[in-house]
Amino acid sequence: MAGYLVLARKYRSETFEEVVGQEPIARTLTNAIRTGRVAHAYLFTGTRGVGKTTMARILAKALNCLDGDEPTPTPCGTCDACVSIARGDDVDVIEIDGASNRGIDEIRELRNNAIFRPSRCRFKVYYIDEVHMLTKEAFNALLKTLEEPPSHVKFIFATTEVEKVPATILSRCQRFDFRNIPTAKIAEHLKAICEKETVAADADALYRVARAAAGSMRDGLSLLDQLLAGAEKVTDEEVIRVLGTPPDERTIAIVQAIADANAAAALGELAAVLDSGVTLTSVTAALSDMFRNMMLAATCGPESELIELPETQRKNVGELTGRFSTPAIVQAVGVLQRTSQNIRGSSVGRALVEAALVRLAEADKFVDPASLIERLEQMAAGGTAMGQKKKPVTNIPAGMPRPAAAPVRATPPTAAQPEPTPSPEPEPKKKVKPLSSDEKQKVQDDPAVREAMTLFGGNMVHMERVETPDPAVVTPGAETDEEETEQE
Ligand SMILES: [Zn+2]
Repeated sequence: MAGYLVLARKYRSETFEEVVGQEPIARTLTNAIRTGRVAHAYLFTGTRGVGKTTMARILAKALNCLDGDEPTPTPCGTCDACVSIARGDDVDVIEIDGASNRGIDEIRELRNNAIFRPSRCRFKVYYIDEVHMLTKEAFNALLKTLEEPPSHVKFIFATTEVEKVPATILSRCQRFDFRNIPTAKIAEHLKAICEKETVAADADALYRVARAAAGSMRDGLSLLDQLLAGAEKVTDEEVIRVLGTPPDERTIAIVQAIADANAAAALGELAAVLDSGVTLTSVTAALSDMFRNMMLAATCGPESELIELPETQRKNVGELTGRFSTPAIVQAVGVLQRTSQNIRGSSVGRALVEAALVRLAEADKFVDPASLIERLEQMAAGGTAMGQKKKPVTNIPAGMPRPAAAPVRATPPTAAQPEPTPSPEPEPKKKVKPLSSDEKQKVQDDPAVREAMTLFGGNMVHMERVETPDPAVVTPGAETDEEETEQE
């Protein structure tokens, strides 16, 4: 494969017209050049692979193209300046990686050189990528140049973390926020490239690649590189293999088992997927994705543009959605999201995913989130105002199969939702004592607490022990079941 040029470089957009996914920015810059209102400094923000460097090079070419006598929104692409700028090695268009040139010395050198006129172009353009990495001193030095820039100098800064760029710099730049590129646009672009490369590719396979790229054209093109290196044709099976994601029918089978309230079948399907070599993380991500799309279908309709799926899969999602109530779907999204966080680095990851599936399949046996939240809020508020029972956080059992709890889940949309009825009970006065850090750790490590967190999502913000008074002074008639819950 000697001389193979990766697709991201081979098919980098060369003009504002060709830019994919950032059309509004391309349009604004085109107008700025046409009307001669080009700013001294630009800041391009956005995640990686969305076209910041590409846009910077096009802007530099537009300012410096030697084909005409002045800047042009349509640089020729063939003059010496255009060619070397496109390669990233022009003498007057200096590309600096802020991550490896972050000190004051580098910026001082930049300032000293910026004074001199460009050698052949109209403008000296400094493109500093990952500008947020500069040190404080370097930013201060840069600021001096930004305050009084020589008229022949233009700055283009790019960053993935704009919140780390000092306000003094921000206020001197014209800012453009690069958006994540929509899946459909990435898929379209991949298709066009496959045509140019005369490679056969399934539309569904390209869409899957585009989805995996998650808004980054560069990631999408790297994946396509990988696929083309291994096969003659881009097929869905091959993409699934390379991505290590479970095949759709597997994911669908798990969701169907959950809809059937058949936990055993869900676990069986999970085992089969894992046996086929798919990782736990990928299965959980696929399930998360599926329930998210179902949530979108349930709330915005199955035809919603927010659902980024090809037609065949969109149909599947529509059908599955009809088998769940919206609250059940929303709960599943939360449970799976939480599970995917918890399995990272966990030695019992599989057990956590299995627990999540059982929880979802048998959700009607568990407490509903609404009444749990209400109880947690009562605890947070001290619970005394309402005279309601309060319990230490340590004592939230994970399952809590309370008779009063309303079932939440896979009920068909037509079924009426029983109202959650938390049952207030009278309680004796209690004393509140803070916990030691050892005790707090114990609570956090408690499997029941962890499971409750997994199930309902949330963070531990406060812990205290609530002590019941001596039973001897409890007013007659006051009901106490505190004995069983106060074990410490
Ligand atoms: Zn040119």
